[in-house]
Amino acid sequence: MVSRMADCIFCKIIKGAIPSFKLYESERVLAFLDIEPLAQGHALVIPKHHGAKLTDIPDDQLGEMMPVAKKLANAMGGENYNILQNNGRLAHQVVDHVHFHVIPKPDQEQGLGITWPAK
Ligand code: IMP
Repeated sequence: MVSRMADCIFCKIIKGAIPSFKLYESERVLAFLDIEPLAQGHALVIPKHHGAKLTDIPDDQLGEMMPVAKKLANAMGGENYNILQNNGRLAHQVVDHVHFHVIPKPDQEQGLGITWPAK
């Protein structure tokens, strides 16, 4: 089941009403590049089911998200990365649609070798 909110920016991305650079898409999960990346390759993994907080998302959808985050981190090619997810304003959540950030920390000398799709 896909629930959407009319004024949610990530629901608009899911619908294609706002453009995005998509990295992965399935029936229930979408991953795309962050518009204001903290590092090259900074990606967001979201459920297609609308929910503001982790507790709003059905377990089966959450269960699909982490393997996608893992594949993205792998595809960035580096050994150093952060995966994080914010809930609520005090925790720095700005967009009220659950999302996992995948943020590579590239080697300063070698840079980031993105190979996608991951094998
Ligand atoms: P939060 O602080 O965890 O809610 O992070 C929200 C993230 O969404 C930020 O890193 C933003 O740069 C990102 N973001 C907001 N609007 C868009 C968009 O239209 N496309 C891609 N990323 C977006």
